[in-house]
Amino acid sequence: MNVLILSHYNPDGDALGASIAWAKMLEAGGHKTTCVVPNKFPYFLDWMPGVERIRIFTEHGDEIRAATAEADVIFFLDFNNISRLEGLSEAVAANTKAKKILIDHHLDPPEGYFDVSFSYPEASSTSFVVFRLISEMVGAEAIDRDMATVLYVGMMTDTGNFSYSNLTPELFRAVAVLVERGIDIPDINRQVYNSYSEGRVRLLSYALGPKMEIMEKGQAALISLKESELRRFHFRQGDSEGFVNYPLSIAGVKMSAMLLQNHKFIRISLRSRGEVDVNEFARKYFDGGGHRNAAGGKSTDSMEVTIERYKRAVKEFFSGSGTSQGK
Ligand code: 5GP
Ligand code: MN
Repeated sequence: MNVLILSHYNPDGDALGASIAWAKMLEAGGHKTTCVVPNKFPYFLDWMPGVERIRIFTEHGDEIRAATAEADVIFFLDFNNISRLEGLSEAVAANTKAKKILIDHHLDPPEGYFDVSFSYPEASSTSFVVFRLISEMVGAEAIDRDMATVLYVGMMTDTGNFSYSNLTPELFRAVAVLVERGIDIPDINRQVYNSYSEGRVRLLSYALGPKMEIMEKGQAALISLKESELRRFHFRQGDSEGFVNYPLSIAGVKMSAMLLQNHKFIRISLRSRGEVDVNEFARKYFDGGGHRNAAGGKSTDSMEVTIERYKRAVKEFFSGSGTSQGK
C-alpha cells in the first residue's frame, strides 16, 4: 500500500521521532511510505537517523502533492487539528479515497474526521504511543537501534527531558527497552540540547533580559520577538525552542507566553504550571490548542496588537471570568 505519514507545522523531536519509527515499521511490512511535514524542522534535529526520509512541503511541494494524491492510507501523527498542516491541508483534502488514521496524544480529537483513531491524550508523547503500538502489533523486537534513538528523542523532548507530567512506569519501561537497543543517551542529549548556534544563546539572553515582561502580580510572563529582532541574532528555525519555559522557573509564575513573528503571522507558544490550563486559553483567545500545560496558537494582528490582546486575555483569565482555571 501507499502510505503517507503526516506530522505538524514546526515539527519537533516527537513529530520526527514518531514519524520515522512508524515509517520504518511499515516499510518492514512491505509498504511504501512517504513522511511529510509542512515546513522545516530545527537544525539540531538534523542528525536523527532516518531524518533524510522526511520530506518538507515548502521545499518539495509538487512531489508531495503527487504522493498525497496516490496515498491509500494517511497517518496523522502528533497532531489532531488539521489546521496544523498549514499549506498541506488542501493537498490532503483533495485525496478523498485514503483511509485516515490518527496516532496522537493531543486533547480533543475532532469527531468524524478520522477513520481510525489512536488518541491517547494522557500519553506524554506520540513517540511513546508509537512504541506501544509497534510493541503490540509486531513486538518490540522490531525496534532497532536507530528506531530506538528517534523514539527516545520524541519521548525526551516532549517530557522536557523526563521532567513534566504523565511520567508513568510504562514510559520508563519503554525507555528501558530503548536502552537495551544500545541508544547513546549522553550523545542524544548533547545533539539535541547542546548543539546550538552562538546566535541562539545571545538571543536567549536578549529574550529573557530586555524582552521579558512579568504581569498579573508575578503570575504571568511574556516574551515577544519581532522578525527584525530575530534577524539581528541570525535566527534559524528552532533557535527559540525552549525559551518559553524559562519564565516558569521564577517562583510564582504560572503561565508563560512567547510571541514569535514570522513573515505571515505571529506564533504563540504557551506553557503553564499545574491547574492553569493553557489549552483552554489558546483555544479561547488565539485559535489554537494543545495540552493543559503546553499549548499554542497564532495571531495575524501586528505584534503591538497581539501583545495587548495577550495582556487583556491574561487579565480576564486570571480574574476567573470565563474560566475556573485561573486560580
Ligand atoms: P509549541 O509551543 O512547542 O509550538 O507547542 C506546544 C504545544 O501546543 C504542542 O504540543 C502543540 O501541539 C500545541 N500547539 C501549538 N500551536 C498550536 C496551534 O496553532 N493549534 C493547536 N491546536 N495546537 C497547537
Ligand atoms: Mn508530541
